[in-house]
Amino acid sequence: MTTLRVFRWSPGEPERWQSYAVPAGQDTTVLDALVEIQRGQDPTLAFRYACRVGMCGSCAVVVNGRERWACRTRLTTLGRGPLSVRPLYHFPLLRDLVVDMTPFAEKLAAVGGTLTPGPGAAQSARVSSESRERRDIDAAVECIGCGMCVSACTMVASNRHFPGPAALNRAFTLQRDHRDAAKAERWSVLLSDDALARCHGQGNCTEVCPMGLSPATSIVRLRRMGTRRLLGFGPD
Ligand code: SF4
Repeated sequence: MTTLRVFRWSPGEPERWQSYAVPAGQDTTVLDALVEIQRGQDPTLAFRYACRVGMCGSCAVVVNGRERWACRTRLTTLGRGPLSVRPLYHFPLLRDLVVDMTPFAEKLAAVGGTLTPGPGAAQSARVSSESRERRDIDAAVECIGCGMCVSACTMVASNRHFPGPAALNRAFTLQRDHRDAAKAERWSVLLSDDALARCHGQGNCTEVCPMGLSPATSIVRLRRMGTRRLLGFGPD
């Protein structure tokens, strides 16, 4: 048996930690344990999941103080003793382990996180996976929007205007995309006081990203591009 200490809160109630003992096999994941609790012990426990196989990122929580996806985290990898499970940081709490992801979408929108096709652009323009342009952003395109990097970012904690790692990582891919026609507008946001300049480079985002992305590297590369732009060395 393994004991999970789970954060509990619902509107109108005080916060509390509740302990549950669950049977744990070699391959039991944190998500398995939460499902076991909800089905067998406490149907009021709220948490979010969808794919169960490490694709959607919706089961992101903080386990033993670190952001992890519950479906891919085996209890046996977490050491002995009670495990703590709490919701992601820096998001409004809806209930128990469920947070409101609206700020994530808002921050993406604030940096112009969707492709703006240039005039005359084909309806669907393919960028070959072999092309230099595509390989250049390979390491940054697999974001699943789980929010773990935002939860781990201490600058997000202290500056509510800071776009956060996921949005800046997305902005990087778009600033390198020849099809996009909104680069100037995006630069005006990225080079403002509360964006690129605020990242302190601690790299917590890269450390916790379950997809192995490095938002910290994307931010460094954006800074280089932005500096070249400010000095008049490049079109970007
Ligand atoms: S960059 Fe990584 S940690 Fe951040 S939202 Fe995307 S997949 Fe999650």
